[in-house]
Amino acid sequence: MKCEELLQYLSDYIDQELEEELNSEAQEHLATCQNCRVVLDSTQQTIFLFREQGKRTIPAQSRVRLFNQLQDAFIKSKTSE
Ligand SMILES: [Zn+2]
Repeated sequence: MKCEELLQYLSDYIDQELEEELNSEAQEHLATCQNCRVVLDSTQQTIFLFREQGKRTIPAQSRVRLFNQLQDAFIKSKTSE
């Protein structure tokens, strides 16, 4: 699995809605990719904060914004290597 693919599946991965096969591919990738682990951590933290505020799920709009931000940061970190 590539980083781009992982980002695409990240939301479902966190929600544990991935198919078994994809899920293990994602786990495999996360085990070897520092970048994606950082993205996963920040995403999970954001979701956790939302839940702390009593919201069970992140509104779709915020979710999209969050993923855009993460993707931007990710692309920047990649090109600066
Ligand atoms: Zn990656």
